[in-house]
Amino acid sequence: MNNTLREKVALVTGGASGIGHATALALAAEGAYVVVADVDEAGGQAVVAEIGDLGGQAFFQYSDVSQAADVVALIEAIVGRYGRIDCAVNNAGIEGLPARTADTSEADFDRIMAINVKGVWLCMKHEIQRMITQGGGVIVNIASVAGLVGAHSLPVYAASKHAVVGLTKSAALEYARKNIRINAVCPSVVRTPMVERAVEIMPQFAEATIKGNPSRRLGEPEEVAAAVVWLCSDASSFTNGATVTVDGGFTAQ
Ligand code: NAD
Repeated sequence: MNNTLREKVALVTGGASGIGHATALALAAEGAYVVVADVDEAGGQAVVAEIGDLGGQAFFQYSDVSQAADVVALIEAIVGRYGRIDCAVNNAGIEGLPARTADTSEADFDRIMAINVKGVWLCMKHEIQRMITQGGGVIVNIASVAGLVGAHSLPVYAASKHAVVGLTKSAALEYARKNIRINAVCPSVVRTPMVERAVEIMPQFAEATIKGNPSRRLGEPEEVAAAVVWLCSDASSFTNGATVTVDGGFTAQ
């Protein structure tokens, strides 16, 4: 434990799996009290148990980030337990089925936007309200390199992540003088269950992705978590409204 986030209260949405799981562990390792929020109760409870086994403190709250009532209840539960929320990592997101723009279904569009855009906005809205009341805080939104450049056969996912970048930058401007920093992390393809699902549908996906990355590999969830920890800590005290790429150089091409 390095204690850079000692006794800070940190929320991770989508904390049951992949990047959220790695982030929850990394925040706990820095001494934060972690709140794991997810629609996957078993997965979320397993992460909480893992943090407990490592000597950290965490609790799970079921929350569908696309539902306002769930998000309100989530923030109330955190404040009820700890009295504050210092760091919020809005990570929950879905990829949808791979399809070109003309072949994407309206149902997929609505689902991706509801979770990736409305979900991040709802979380930010209620986190910011609390952070204003308590005098400050830090928010990290997990966008994607698909929030900076196009993504072949994931057009709505790319649109949703561009929207997350827009929400991040706008809110960063709005609340800088309220002592709230709001940044986005933009990973390229990272080895998580989300990507395992993509490989099942498109077997060539991982190989093509590796070939297209200057570092010739996928990212690891822990590499994204390290950027999130830095953005949550005082070490990044003048970083606000930024899009931090964790992409092996992908968007530098
Ligand atoms: P994942 O599928 O492994 O984990 C996502 C988690 O979010 C799951 O635990 C899931 O249950 C949860 N979730 C889904 N819908 C939810 C909802 N409505 N409310 C609450 N929780 C919900 O995915 P991951 O790869 O770890 O992705 C995490 C985030 O990182 C996503 O926002 C994703 O878009 C982004 N991202 C992933 C990659 C990648 O290559 N894996 C790259 C860039 C960005």
